[in-house]
Amino acid sequence: MASNELKHILTVNSGSSSIKFSLYHLGLYGYEGLKLSGRLERIGLEGGIFIARDAGGKTVKEERAPLHDHDAALKLLLGWLSTVPEGERIDAVGHRVVHGGVKYSRTQAIDAELLDTLGVLIPFAPEHLPHEIKAIEAVSKSFPEIAQAACFDTAFHRNMPEVAKVYGLPARIRDEGVVRYGFHGLSYEYILSELKGSVGEKAAGGRIVIAHLGNGASMAAVNNGRPVDTTMGFTPSGGLVMSTRPGDLDPGVVVYLVREKGMNAEELSELLDHRSGLLGISGISPDMRDLLSKIDDEPRAALAVELFCYQARKSLGALSAALGGLDTLVFTGGIGENSPEVRERICRDLEFLGIALDTKKNAANAPVISHYKSHVLVRVMKTNEEVMIARHTVRLLGEGVP
Ligand code: ADP
Repeated sequence: MASNELKHILTVNSGSSSIKFSLYHLGLYGYEGLKLSGRLERIGLEGGIFIARDAGGKTVKEERAPLHDHDAALKLLLGWLSTVPEGERIDAVGHRVVHGGVKYSRTQAIDAELLDTLGVLIPFAPEHLPHEIKAIEAVSKSFPEIAQAACFDTAFHRNMPEVAKVYGLPARIRDEGVVRYGFHGLSYEYILSELKGSVGEKAAGGRIVIAHLGNGASMAAVNNGRPVDTTMGFTPSGGLVMSTRPGDLDPGVVVYLVREKGMNAEELSELLDHRSGLLGISGISPDMRDLLSKIDDEPRAALAVELFCYQARKSLGALSAALGGLDTLVFTGGIGENSPEVRERICRDLEFLGIALDTKKNAANAPVISHYKSHVLVRVMKTNEEVMIARHTVRLLGEGVP
């Protein structure tokens, strides 16, 4: 591919009952333009809905349509795209794939062998991988001529030092792939590329902790661009307290639930993936905005917010120790980008680490929220996992090197 030739890349992020998509026109170097984005929701349920917006956020398509399965949803999407000028040519589809196991540390072109490997990895991510595989298969079936790429959320972390990956379990279990993988890798890569690109090469250097705080939440420690450690582990359920996931747990809790409460794998997964975290603690909502609005009247909402911030503060301390100090802290994700209150609570009393916030800048969600005397630069940055998928896909197409 010539570096000046624009490629038309569709990014696909598949969940159990929804597909989020974006359409980019981009060159190997330089130009990148978001043309359309949207989602197909309630796949496999009553009342399917398809919404698309243009680059300015204006709704250009809103349709209620039966979406029996991922096949039907992707056919509807690709069929519609072929009728609008921005989408009449799709060169490749880049899929967000949650888990690449030990094997994949970079984006891969999708072929039969890769699909087989993803099938083998399903037990590592049973909540996500089956839907992602369905979406890949749906595109292959209806549009076999379109190239596809798998962009893994685990890839960024594969080069962490071994000591950060190993659990204190017998080696035979580790050899089966039960290690720390880490997730949100596409978000971390995007933040680092923005630091390098928009802020300046120096900004991406040194010892950085990136806090991706959304419904799913994790932190990563990065030293001069290299991954050092991260809070999520074998699955996205570990690490920080999240909207509906508990984060790190004493393994004895799981043994207790199995032995004393007779819980099976499905019940445990329901409890640990969907009923715990902010929702479980508050009994009110998994949504940080809801909880912040009830903090003064509902002690359980206040406790959920406090636990979220306390655990994040502890992890920030642990990751700073792993890095041997801290130069830059970046907040991103829905909560990290938008909540001065959460950022303030996480950074509270961390002067000993060199962190001091500027109250006004923090309240304004400014790009740099640290006090001018702070040793650590604290930034707020908007993440963009979709554009990272598109970039990986276009590079894979263009050079075979993601
Ligand atoms: P996901 O992980 O699903 O991509 P997001 O990154 O969009 O989620 O983050 C969603 C979270 O961000 C929700 O808990 C939401 O309440 C929170 N959030 C969004 N805006 C704000 C805000 N202004 N203040 C506090 N929390 C916010």
